[in-house]
Amino acid sequence: MKSFSYASATDVDTALRTAADGDGVKFLAGGTNLVDLMREGIEEPSTVVDITRLPLTGIEELPDGGIRVGALVSNSRLAADPVIRTRYPVLAKAILLGASAQLRNMATVGGNLLQRTRCMYFYDEASACNKRAPGTGCDAIGGFSRGSAVLGTSEHCIATHPSDMAVALVLLDAVVEAESVRGIRRIPVADFHTLPGDTPHIESVLAPDELITAIELPPVPVAAHSRYRKVRDRASYAFALVSVAAALAVEDGVVTDVRLALGGVATKPWRARVAEELLLGAEATDENFARAAAAELAPALPQSDNAFKIDLARRTVVAVLRTLNAERSTS
Ligand code: SF4
Repeated sequence: MKSFSYASATDVDTALRTAADGDGVKFLAGGTNLVDLMREGIEEPSTVVDITRLPLTGIEELPDGGIRVGALVSNSRLAADPVIRTRYPVLAKAILLGASAQLRNMATVGGNLLQRTRCMYFYDEASACNKRAPGTGCDAIGGFSRGSAVLGTSEHCIATHPSDMAVALVLLDAVVEAESVRGIRRIPVADFHTLPGDTPHIESVLAPDELITAIELPPVPVAAHSRYRKVRDRASYAFALVSVAAALAVEDGVVTDVRLALGGVATKPWRARVAEELLLGAEATDENFARAAAAELAPALPQSDNAFKIDLARRTVVAVLRTLNAERSTS
């Protein structure tokens, strides 16, 4: 591991000034991804700013009925919060399925959004990888691509975004609050992560000296009836082959509100707006669920090893919507 300077901040202003003063500064919170990346030589910060003592640990109700979550709230605490479990069960479930209890205890909300892909070539210095070393190529294309993305890909990168939590946040139209010495920005989560295009090493719109300080969840009444289903290669913790976040409201057999997002299949947390538009106002039937899922996945571009994800995603969408619809009918 390359040597680096260590600094610790107890207030946000100090952390932001330290980040603004130097190149190659990284904020360290739970460290569940950053430390691994530093050990592998993929991240080589000149300075690490320990932010674990910043006062960003609140979960507060907002006047409009939403919730503000401090960036240093642990994944465990957020998933266990009674208000989150009641109003946003999709978020609690996504976090619980995301990682083991030990990792959830360490990992923070802000850090979860910034975790990097688990593409195996990204971690292998002997492999070509445009995300790790821009301009070197992409060994996943034409290589082992079982875990790779089918939506939002480019000829330069097909890596999936690994976060489960972010899929639920996209579903909920959450907003990221980011702060730097220049001020505060509010960024919709849907716009926070970027598609790879020809710059796959750039993964979000966050500037190097910006710190995520909070996530805001707007009031989303339909989210009280929501689910997160994750399909993975083994029953114990693993990254998603396919995941589906969904919320559904049905009246007299007709969809009156619906939200849908996909994980494991795309290069960023994927809001399924094409499917949502087809479903809104349609009869809540398996046929319409399948038609909407197929339309969302129509632009998918599979590799030789991951074409199965398209059908798996279609069937998982139908299964989750069917379950939500059945629960609604019997509640
Ligand atoms: Fe690198 Fe992306 Fe290709 Fe994986 S898919 S090898 S992360 S460029």
